[in-house]
Amino acid sequence: MPATKAQLQWNGGKAGKAPASTPSTSSRCRVEKCGQVGRGPVPDGFTRVRVKGSSEPARDYCSPYCTHFGTALAELRSPAEGGDRG
Ligand SMILES: [Zn+2]
Repeated sequence: MPATKAQLQWNGGKAGKAPASTPSTSSRCRVEKCGQVGRGPVPDGFTRVRVKGSSEPARDYCSPYCTHFGTALAELRSPAEGGDRG
């Protein structure tokens, strides 16, 4: 159905489909033990993520994707670096 005059006015004359919604990055991996707090030996095929200074404890992740997700999460929970503004 073509956009009505009112719709075009509202969106600045743009036509066509709306951009796809941003994929969720918060969906949890369903692999058992993925994201668990890393205590003891790292499970087979898992990678332990530990970011220095982060309030996040070391955690074990099952795949490169999960490892990146975990690293980003831990970095978000790190105190901001810098402080060189005087
Ligand atoms: Zn995973």
